[in-house]
Amino acid sequence: MNPANRREVLTGLALGAGTLLGARAAAAGEVEPSRAPGWGGTDPGPRNLGREMQNPDIINPPATDHGTLPNLRFSYADSHIRQESGGWTRQITERELGISKSIAGVNMRLNAGGIRELHWHKEAEWAYMLYGNARITAIDAMGRNFVDDVGVGDLWYFPSGIPHSIQGLDPDGCEFLLVFDNGGFDEDSTFLLSDWIKHVPPEVLAKNFGASAELFSHTPDPSALYIFKAPVPPPLGPGKLLGAASVPQSFSHKMLAQEPIRTKSGTVRITDSSNFPVSKTIAAALVEVDPGGLRELHWHPNADEWQYYIEGEARMGVFASSGQARTFDFRAGDVGYVPFAMGHYIENTGTSTLRFLEMFKSSYYADLSLNQWLALTPPDLVRAHLHIDDQEIKVFRKEKIPVVPA
Ligand code: MN
Ligand code: MN
Repeated sequence: MNPANRREVLTGLALGAGTLLGARAAAAGEVEPSRAPGWGGTDPGPRNLGREMQNPDIINPPATDHGTLPNLRFSYADSHIRQESGGWTRQITERELGISKSIAGVNMRLNAGGIRELHWHKEAEWAYMLYGNARITAIDAMGRNFVDDVGVGDLWYFPSGIPHSIQGLDPDGCEFLLVFDNGGFDEDSTFLLSDWIKHVPPEVLAKNFGASAELFSHTPDPSALYIFKAPVPPPLGPGKLLGAASVPQSFSHKMLAQEPIRTKSGTVRITDSSNFPVSKTIAAALVEVDPGGLRELHWHPNADEWQYYIEGEARMGVFASSGQARTFDFRAGDVGYVPFAMGHYIENTGTSTLRFLEMFKSSYYADLSLNQWLALTPPDLVRAHLHIDDQEIKVFRKEKIPVVPA
C-alpha cells in the first residue's frame, strides 16, 4: 500500500471508529468508505468485508477517479471450476468479464500423467507455464510434428485449428494459463477426438481407416476424457518425432529465460512474433515491479491489454478520456483488462515483488510512454500546456523506462 493510500485507510478507520457515535465500531483493519473526515461515511449495513479489504481503491477510490467505466477486473477465485479425473480447469471469457471481447483466458491444472485430450479449436492458443512440467504435442497441416517438454516460465502457441495435447509430467504435473485470441472462446466447446469418433457412423469409421468398425468400439465417452488420468510418459528420447520433419517454427518458447529490460525497480520481458515467430496473434510482456515501484503511465497503440497477475499486490489506474478514470486492485490469480488506447499505470502496493503478464491480440508488442512523449515534444509546446518553467521541464526523459522507482 502506498503512503497516500495508507493515509486514506487510516483516515477511514478513525472516522469509522470514533467520529460517528452510534455507528457500528470498525473492526481492526476494517476499511470504511470515507476518503477524508466529513466525506463519505461508515458502512453500517451488510458488508462482504473480505472482498472490500482486497479492494481498497474500490471502497476508497483516489479523488482523481471519476465517471463510469466498465468492470476491468475478474478473479479466477470467482470462476467456476470444472473438475475431472486428471485435474481441473476454469475460464475467464467475455461471459465473466464483459469488456473482454478480444481475449479469453483459461487456468488449468493437470496432475502428474493427467492429459488434456487431443483436440483443436478455432482460436489460436497461447500459454504460460505457472507451475511444474508438461509435455505438449501437435502436428501442422503439412504433416510435420512437434513434441516438447515445458516448465515454469515457458510458453507455447498453437495457431488456430492446429490439433494438440497437453500432459502433466513428474513430479507433480503442471498448472498453466491459456490465452485465446477471441473473448467468446469456450473451453467446453473445443473439438475433441472422442467426441468426433462418437458421432461418426461405425461403417464410415471403418471405411475411413480401412479397418474393422470394432477398432473404435472401445473409445470412451467424451465425458470420461477431456482432462483424464493416465500414466506419466517416459522421458523424451532422441526419436521423439514420429514424422519426417518437425514444424519449421517452434510452438514453444522460453520467455522467463529471455534477458529482460532492467530498470532500477523492475524488469520487462517482451515476447511477440519478432522473437517467437509462430505467435502471430498474441504479443506479451512479463513485468516484475519491486515494492513501491510503478509500471509507468503509458498506453498501447495497437490492441486491448489482458492481464494475469502471478504474484504480489497491485493497483491499476485507467484513464478512459472524457474525464473518466477508475482504479482497480489486483493480486495473484486476478485478471485485469485495459481497453484499446486507454492510458494506465500499475503500482506495486504490496511488500513483495509484483509479477504479472500483459497480453495483446497482436503480432507485435508496442507501448507509448507519457514521459517519453513529453521529452520528445518541443519544450515550448509542452510548457504551454503544463505551465512549467525551463528547469522543471528537464524532468522528462527521452529514454523509455517502463518500471520506475518508488
Ligand atoms: Mn487447446
Ligand atoms: Mn499496459
